[in-house]
Amino acid sequence: LLEVDGLTKKFGGLVAVDDFSFEADEGEIVGLIGPNGSGKSTVFNCIMGRYDVTEGSIRFDGSDITDDATHEVVNKGLSRVSQESNPIQEMPVAGNIKLFTLPNKLTSFYGGATDEEIYEYAARIDIEDKLHEMPDELPHADVRRLEIAKSLATEPELMLLDEPFAGMNQAEITELADQIEQFRDEGMTMIVVDHNMGGLMELVDRIVVLNNGDFLAEGTPEEIAENEHVQEAYLAGE
Ligand code: ATP
Ligand code: MG
Repeated sequence: LLEVDGLTKKFGGLVAVDDFSFEADEGEIVGLIGPNGSGKSTVFNCIMGRYDVTEGSIRFDGSDITDDATHEVVNKGLSRVSQESNPIQEMPVAGNIKLFTLPNKLTSFYGGATDEEIYEYAARIDIEDKLHEMPDELPHADVRRLEIAKSLATEPELMLLDEPFAGMNQAEITELADQIEQFRDEGMTMIVVDHNMGGLMELVDRIVVLNNGDFLAEGTPEEIAENEHVQEAYLAGE
């Protein structure tokens, strides 16, 4: 479904991502891990058209999206949950979700989603009882769920999740992991970034490891947990 081929991203003299290739097949949950600063978020920013790609190509669903703008990538069925939450604080949860449906491929008028549709997006991630609350009244885990609801509101085929479990307690992590599995059962493909493999062991089919912008390893969670090069990279980062 997604093919990233030879992706390189430079910021001036800094090579943040260096000739990195990986794929996600339809229906998979792929983990993308690496120590801090290894380039994970930069890969997502390049896929989403947020950063210009220095070299390499990105294909999604058979079409070349390397030079697409963000709204084009979203219209083709990709969405991303950012590492940082950025709800509009002056708007309740419902309004924050609605903004992401203004406009998209499903709403041919610029009116955005109906109240029922917004309720459905919120219900898929269990915040339907928070629709009238303001973002700054919500606990951290619900703010993160709101970010996911915004992403769901664009009806993605492939969702990129950047550290979705960060700052959550174990009960919240387990609940979110169950919901991510539910999305997969409903036909969505996902790439989940985390800085280590802990939260991903039970969840993902396959893990790709980035280190200093370079591809380091790929395998099942069990293979990656036992990989010496991966262990060394993490020890070096400490
Ligand atoms: P973390 O686990 O901390 O989120 P990461 O793996 O997501 O790290 P990136 O945020 O992709 O890492 O950063 C990779 C490298 O690129 C870092 O050295 C970072 O400072 C640099 N970088 C990222 N974005 C920019 C930018 N907009 N301008 C300049 N340098 C950047
Ligand atoms: Mg990051």
